[in-house]
Amino acid sequence: MGGKGSGRTYLVRKTAVEECCEVAVSDLAGGGPLRPGVRRRGGLAWCRGGGVVFALGYALDTADPAAAAVRLGYASAGGEEIEEVFRLEVTRPNYGGVRFWFTCPGCGRRRRKLYLPPRRRLFRCRECYDLTYESCRESHRYDRLFAELGEALALPAAAVEAVIKGGR
Ligand SMILES: [Zn+2]
Repeated sequence: MGGKGSGRTYLVRKTAVEECCEVAVSDLAGGGPLRPGVRRRGGLAWCRGGGVVFALGYALDTADPAAAAVRLGYASAGGEEIEEVFRLEVTRPNYGGVRFWFTCPGCGRRRRKLYLPPRRRLFRCRECYDLTYESCRESHRYDRLFAELGEALALPAAAVEAVIKGGR
């Protein structure tokens, strides 16, 4: 990603992650860490203002961790039926066990979360859609730093920012 960020301007209003449907790997596991040897189907729904605004079905397969994948199926904002398979990458943290990540089809990178912005068709990572955080819109100075720290600590950038800025 050489040079990305240099000369970047924030004159154009970006889409915020808060406006997107967000899928974390842990959502597929029903909240806890996703483990190997799992084959399951499930559904996720996003509600706003008391109603479901978006729903998807998924088929998860981590039976062979080296070939783990999840298929997401949903209807796009335009009513198109979409099915996409996301390869899951596995890492082995120092503390033991395994950890699964989405492989973003847009950039091929390992991601904990994928996002579907309003009026878009496909789930991709925050970088692919150049998404921002609501809370950072006014002061973008440290966006990149928070994002990089977040990646390093496996935390959302917003959480890193909250800690650094001290519990707003
Ligand atoms: Zn991406």
